Amino acid sequence: MQGTSKWVYAFSEGDGKNKLLLGGKGANLCEMTRIGLPVPPGFTVTTEACLAYLRENRLPDGLMDEVRAHLKAVEQATGKGFGAARNPLLVSVRSGSAMSMPGMMDTILNLGLNASSLAGLIEATHNPRFGWDAYRRFIQLFGKVALGVPDEPFDRAMGELKRSAGVTHDVELTAAQLQQLAARFLDIVREHTGQPFPEDPYQQLETAIAAVFRSWNGKRAIDYRRQFKITPEMANGTAANVCTMVFGNMGNDSGTGVGFTRNPGTGERQVYGEYLTNAQGEDVVAGIRTPKPIAAMAQEMPALHAQLMDLAARLESHYREVQDFEFTIERGTLWALQTRNGKMNAAALVRTSVEMEREGLIDRRQALLRVPPAMLEQLLVPRLDPGFKGQPLATGLPASPGAASGMIVFDADTAELRGRAGEKIILVREETKPEDIHGFFAAQGVLTSRGGKTSHAAVVARGMGKPCVSGAESIVVDVHNKVATVGPATLKEGQVITIDGSTGAVYFGEVPTVEVEFSQDMATLLGWTDEAARLKVRANADTPRDAQRAREFGAQGIGLCRTERMFNQIDRLPIMQQMILADTREARVAALDELRPMQREDFKGIFKAMNGLPVTIRLLDPPMHEFLPTVAQLELEIAHLHHFREAVEVLQEIPETLRILSPRLHHQYEGGLAKLLAGLTEFKDSHLEDQLVARKTEVLKKVKALSEVNPMLGHRGVRLGITYPEIYEMQIHAIFEAAAECWREGLDVQPEIMVPQLATVEELKRIHAYVTRIHAEVERVTGVNVPYKFGSMIEVVRACVRAARLAETAEFFSFGTNDLTQATFSFSREDAENKFLPAYYEAGILKDNPFEVLDEKGVGELMKLAINAGRAQRPELKVGICGEHGGDPTSIRFCHGAGLDYVSCSGPRVPIARLAAAHAKLTEPEVRQA
Ligand code: PEP
Ligand code: MG
Repeated sequence: MQGTSKWVYAFSEGDGKNKLLLGGKGANLCEMTRIGLPVPPGFTVTTEACLAYLRENRLPDGLMDEVRAHLKAVEQATGKGFGAARNPLLVSVRSGSAMSMPGMMDTILNLGLNASSLAGLIEATHNPRFGWDAYRRFIQLFGKVALGVPDEPFDRAMGELKRSAGVTHDVELTAAQLQQLAARFLDIVREHTGQPFPEDPYQQLETAIAAVFRSWNGKRAIDYRRQFKITPEMANGTAANVCTMVFGNMGNDSGTGVGFTRNPGTGERQVYGEYLTNAQGEDVVAGIRTPKPIAAMAQEMPALHAQLMDLAARLESHYREVQDFEFTIERGTLWALQTRNGKMNAAALVRTSVEMEREGLIDRRQALLRVPPAMLEQLLVPRLDPGFKGQPLATGLPASPGAASGMIVFDADTAELRGRAGEKIILVREETKPEDIHGFFAAQGVLTSRGGKTSHAAVVARGMGKPCVSGAESIVVDVHNKVATVGPATLKEGQVITIDGSTGAVYFGEVPTVEVEFSQDMATLLGWTDEAARLKVRANADTPRDAQRAREFGAQGIGLCRTERMFNQIDRLPIMQQMILADTREARVAALDELRPMQREDFKGIFKAMNGLPVTIRLLDPPMHEFLPTVAQLELEIAHLHHFREAVEVLQEIPETLRILSPRLHHQYEGGLAKLLAGLTEFKDSHLEDQLVARKTEVLKKVKALSEVNPMLGHRGVRLGITYPEIYEMQIHAIFEAAAECWREGLDVQPEIMVPQLATVEELKRIHAYVTRIHAEVERVTGVNVPYKFGSMIEVVRACVRAARLAETAEFFSFGTNDLTQATFSFSREDAENKFLPAYYEAGILKDNPFEVLDEKGVGELMKLAINAGRAQRPELKVGICGEHGGDPTSIRFCHGAGLDYVSCSGPRVPIARLAAAHAKLTEPEVRQA
């Protein structure tokens, strides 16, 4: 490739669509230049150059020659000279890959400054303070990014200078003081690197490009890519954008800011953002000064405000997407420095999708595809209970909506540690920096005492959909001593607070929260998903209430009703235990007869909630001992009961002992003890504990008899139905009776009876025989011929292989991919995720957790085998999935491609699944090509 490659593209020549080559920032700078927006001249060094650099550990041959040639062109366009003593050209070197990774890689500003160009800058601007300020910023940034000098010595020197000058803010420092600071900074670099600070601007540029390239492999960039699953196909290497510096800190006719063409928190159509007069971009993002809203610019700089509105409108109509742009005003001239698709929270994405479709900016397909399904989860974030009336401890800016409670942690490393341990954390900082990113991942929410709504903390939290309150200035954060103070109150690490990112309020302790309701826009968008998708989306719901909620989320039926959940309720568990402990069939049937009306009522409730939609009911699945206490618990209880008598005797001695020990204590407790002893003695005389011991010993015996080495592979599922037919018979009765009653009430009930853990066709046939017999019985008694379907779960490898035979009897298949994954990998679904799977991701053996994202190559192939064989036998065979994968967008895409009829997932995931099903259909041709 060397010698023939083109490593550098001028903004005026680069292809604005080629983000892989030029990075998102570079491509957009090219695009903005092409459509005539005011972009300062510059050029992009490609991601291919970055990859070559990372491979060879040196910049490719010929690259710097190209850079020099392009720099000449920039000099000509600007009339400035790089490193020149008169009217010097300064540049920024900015990172930018194909996928936006805000703040995760490095950028250097004011490059090209040295002793002589600094003099030229001061002369050209007649502003020594500005010149020295630019220089000291450059030395620190270049020192840190390109030469690896840490921030601390620079920050310390700045702090010392401010103290000795008696000022609190950087802006109060004079030119002479900044000059002194720059000299100190140069010394710091020499002390740390053993070399003088590079004076040659070309050497600076070469070093800076290499440093930006290296930042692709920095820890925070790698963490970010892992967290957001950014693969090399999506972004491979960063570009380096070399752009003429324009200055927002050249006086009060200058300024800088960031804007969104629509509000990224709410989606409202209104340019949203912040700016600062007489400041550089980093001042806005770092939250060092609190900026003003863009609306205020209409008064302060009306003409420029109008130009800015025009810029925003042109950006949005060109990109047909909400844009997040940066601008600088240098002495009354507006420059566009960057644009990218705006990162928004889910509520804003949904609203803008619906509104932009109505405005004709995008079509429905685009409106659906621009919302990543998993993001809808944010709309399920809890809000503070509206009835809560507590006073906030402090109030900051509502920077990212949603409410969260957690323990205060003051640094990202501790947040990561405690978060991993399963604790709920609120990361509390003065301001955050990109290196805090791992703390964000671990935290429930973020609170900062400084910075605006576009500060780092706000932007990152919004992107992640985590609540954030920023700029709560009344909170004084002392990170070193791990305390914060608010007026007289002190907050220590580990104390619980609640933040409300929708209002900016911060409260002591844990405040109750409520679930969210759907907006009209959400309902509209989800309505479109049902038109677009082929796959239906059902819910896994076990109770009438869950079924009702699932329907509100738009479920098109129930794909899995786990009947065992009904037996776990407090009023039913004792009867269930009685049934399990019964020694005879009669005793078992007696207990089951008690359970039958309860099950019938549950099924009726579910059928009513799902009127007109199919309801798949699974016959009992788990091993019996799950309904019984554990051996350890029983043994402990029996031991306590055995000791009861002795304990009461010991207690009887206590009043006398107490009198000897302390007459005061004796006097104090005498009455209470006498009462307790009277009660206990009465109890003792009843000998109730003997009966209890006998009963519990009986239970213990049964529990031990039922215990299995591998219960998940044991006496469960259809095996129970075969060995204790009366259990399944009771359930089948309850289903048909409930259905008949609902049918009589005029409801459209569509029960589907499903058998779990099936491995052989003979099992299925036996259960089918129960079903047809009981169906006829119920018809005889009620006079209602309930329509129903009979089917099988496919969660055992043998069932996949024997699918053709199963489909002779089964009218539908439902893949239980939780068990099927367990069976395919021979990974225990109870233990794998906590034991060895993390090591497998780390080592790159597995990319994803197969219990979360369907393993297409293994489990998926088995599914295809079963679907093909089943449909060859019975073409109208209905096929669904009800394992956890039914709510995972990637797995849903697979299910669509594999020809399933529906997916089924937990109720709150139904909206996500509906959108994912639409995406799968809308992007079908791409899937086929892939
Ligand atoms: C499954 O195995 O995928 C399934 C849905 O059943 P359960 O999780 O209840 O075993
Ligand atoms: Mg299962």
